[in-house]
Amino acid sequence: MRSVITKMATIECSTCSTLLEIYPQDAPGEPNLGWTALDEDLCKAPPIKRCPHARAEVKRRFAEYDG
Ligand SMILES: [Zn+2]
Repeated sequence: MRSVITKMATIECSTCSTLLEIYPQDAPGEPNLGWTALDEDLCKAPPIKRCPHARAEVKRRFAEYDG
């Protein structure tokens, strides 16, 4: 099993069309991946950090996401 995490990736939320910049994070109580968005206004369920669409998108692309 590989444990390599993509250091930085940009994906597009298929629901919101928001560009998500994915980064690994290591904070207590937080998932192992976080994201920011350049065009947060496009998010249909802000805040972008908790957007269920964004979370589903990240989950689909990154099997290691534990959020
Ligand atoms: Zn969204």
